[in-house]
Amino acid sequence: MTEFEKLADLLFPDITKTPQDLEAQFPPRNLKEGARVTRFAPSPTGFLHIGGLFAALISKLNAKTTGGVFILRIEDTDKKREITDGVSEIIKGLESFGVEIDEGVVGFNKESGAYGPYQQSHRAEIYHVIAKKLVQEGFAYPCFCTEEDLTSLREKQEKEGTVIKGYFGKWAKCRDLSFEEQKALIESGAPYTLRFRSPGKEENKIKYDDLIKGKIEMQENFLDVVLLKTDGIPTYHFAHAVDDHFMRTTHVIRGDEWVSSVPLHIQLFKACGFRVPKYAHISPIMKEENGGKRKLSKRKDPEAAVTYYAKQGFPKESVIEYLLTLANSNFEDWRRANPKAAQSEFPFNIKKMSTSGALFDLTKLIDVSKNVISLMPAEQVYNYSCLWAKDYDEEFYNLLTRDSEFSKRIFEIDRDTPKPRKDIAKFSDVKSYSEYFFDELYNNDYSEMPENITKEMAVSVLGAYINEYNHADSKDEWFSRMKSLCEPLGFTPNVKEYKKNPEMFKGHIGDLSTVIRIAVTGRRNTPDLYSIMQILGEDKTKARLKKALDFYEA
Ligand code: GLU
Repeated sequence: MTEFEKLADLLFPDITKTPQDLEAQFPPRNLKEGARVTRFAPSPTGFLHIGGLFAALISKLNAKTTGGVFILRIEDTDKKREITDGVSEIIKGLESFGVEIDEGVVGFNKESGAYGPYQQSHRAEIYHVIAKKLVQEGFAYPCFCTEEDLTSLREKQEKEGTVIKGYFGKWAKCRDLSFEEQKALIESGAPYTLRFRSPGKEENKIKYDDLIKGKIEMQENFLDVVLLKTDGIPTYHFAHAVDDHFMRTTHVIRGDEWVSSVPLHIQLFKACGFRVPKYAHISPIMKEENGGKRKLSKRKDPEAAVTYYAKQGFPKESVIEYLLTLANSNFEDWRRANPKAAQSEFPFNIKKMSTSGALFDLTKLIDVSKNVISLMPAEQVYNYSCLWAKDYDEEFYNLLTRDSEFSKRIFEIDRDTPKPRKDIAKFSDVKSYSEYFFDELYNNDYSEMPENITKEMAVSVLGAYINEYNHADSKDEWFSRMKSLCEPLGFTPNVKEYKKNPEMFKGHIGDLSTVIRIAVTGRRNTPDLYSIMQILGEDKTKARLKKALDFYEA
């Protein structure tokens, strides 16, 4: 037995499983050639960030478009930073945007899949099996340095002006302790961490090919980083290597704050005897501020939290559509060519992702969302509006659901046409969009009337129109009837003619319909007026016309 092996037994007396046992327990997946296994691996330390949703979406698309598997793994090794409901928030967040988890943590204390546990706090034994192997092979050693030792080490390095600071070379006091020294310290009960014995050299470089960032050359890792903390819990780096190996992840897609750790990760995979996965590092979502760019901040920007979109009433389809425009610059061209295709049909390609941070643009999201909602069936817009109102505006919810057939017709106006209207960007817009349909919300003070239309003109138009109004008219009849009112009132049905000789007329057909539109809705601008009147019904329409006439006559 070598001294390394003796040390391993001393450190991990209870570990009897071997790496081979784990290999057999978590065998390579039986997937078709080219299928990618990806994962989203958040820590449950706060709300789901839009950048997290973006990373999860990219991982999901990679798995889905290749017939692979998308895993949700929870990285909960830092119990101090964990928040209550952190896991449920993440799952709920992903679900609410339709990013379906194929395997992993799928609910509170609920897992699915044969490569678990998927919560790091439940994987202690697995880490220890591999840690033991590293010790046996001389790739890891116990470090008995205390916090004070490490602080004084840093201070000395500071003083000497060492370029790279950390535990390595002559600074790595515990690296070369003899077996006897190690044994005596362990038996005395001294606390220790387990450190990596890095085979790297300061002067060496490594190269790797990032699927998003391209070929990258970096200094090789030569630091003896901590693998297991004093309580036996792994650090992120070690857990990453062990988990992604035994979950058989093929593509590690994560935020680019991890690029600088790649040399260490590659070294760890190799020391463990694992195949190195492919890496893709996503640039963070940025925000424009004072002419510059900065990362979207959890603290400062409400739009950083995915819950913001639900509160505002952006449908999940819009948020995902918008994220796809950030993900692949050719998405918008594809969308123009395939306006009605499902998002899932987009041939996503990770290699086409931007290497610099995409700029988050709320105005763009609003435009994208208007388009997405304009193409939804009326019934869906109605249902979504109700779901939103139920949570955020109960009074409006009661109005919307009082007569669902009536409310649905509101969303039918000008929909299913070659150029549907794009009035609604989010469901919090629906109330103001539709308020004149509900007497409880409708409050017309007629102040919208343009200046060129005098009270007298309004009185003559409304007086004549009320007499002529026939609720049974078809749309064409309704429009002809308005046109035929023009001449007797001194208006022209022909806008061009009006423009040529404006002094000859009081106004044109557009002005006439404006009078009627304002009388019925209080607005200058609405969707198709005929449909509005049909939905309001004969009595209400006539009553509103009459009330407006009374107003102008007073
Ligand atoms: N838990 C890490 C984080 O939240 C995961 C990084 C990774 O995907 O590997 O940043």
